Amino acid sequence: MKKIIIAIDGFSSCGKSTMAKDLAKAIGYIYIDSGAMYRAVTLYCINNNLFNPDQSVKENELKAQINNIHITFQIDLSSGNPHTYLNGTDIENQIRSLEVSSHVSTVAALGFVREAMVKQQQQLGINKGIVMDGRDIGTTVFPNAELKIFVTASAEIRAQRRYDELKAKGENISLQDIISNIEQRDQIDKTRAVSPLRKAEDAILLDNSHMSISEQKEWLLTQYHLHTHA
Ligand code: C5P
Repeated sequence: MKKIIIAIDGFSSCGKSTMAKDLAKAIGYIYIDSGAMYRAVTLYCINNNLFNPDQSVKENELKAQINNIHITFQIDLSSGNPHTYLNGTDIENQIRSLEVSSHVSTVAALGFVREAMVKQQQQLGINKGIVMDGRDIGTTVFPNAELKIFVTASAEIRAQRRYDELKAKGENISLQDIISNIEQRDQIDKTRAVSPLRKAEDAILLDNSHMSISEQKEWLLTQYHLHTHA
């Protein structure tokens, strides 16, 4: 069967990764979490003291080092899910922290960071057979993707989902902090100059506020079949 590119974009914490990961497993495609790449660059900045006291990025220093940041993905054998590696170290858990979440949109707004990441993402999709989720996959990374989905859900529901997820991992965090973080990231993502978050004209809109994970999975699989059997 012909292989296609599936782009899943949308707001923070609306369940894109879960949907994308499940679909990729079901149809034997590669799954790439592009947000993890921006999170990895952010962790690199934290670890290498690349934030100014006002939380802005030391841009010239990061620019000089951007080609030393190598991000790869490997399947974790115990969970069967891909883990993100930064220069050879598994950083999957560290990049999900609120500290990384609260800096990532500032880092992701930098044009030279996006340029470097988009290049790597396009390379990963060169043979198609890929599901990639993010903010600009259908608009910038793969404007010719055969199937594009734009996911959204109400802010309260998204915050609650993120809260439950972090709580289950043992992070001690308040719902209010999560709501603020989500709102702040959405705002930066929507208004940045380079590749702002927006629905591609040919993307299918999905509001999953009131859908279960299995309902979303079924819906997405139907879309996939419609686009490969046409
Ligand atoms: O998807 P996730 O919430 O992990 O992404 C973290 C952040 O990375 C987003 O808030 C956004 O600022 C940035 N991002 C982006 N472009 C993408 C994926 C993520 O700017 N394609």
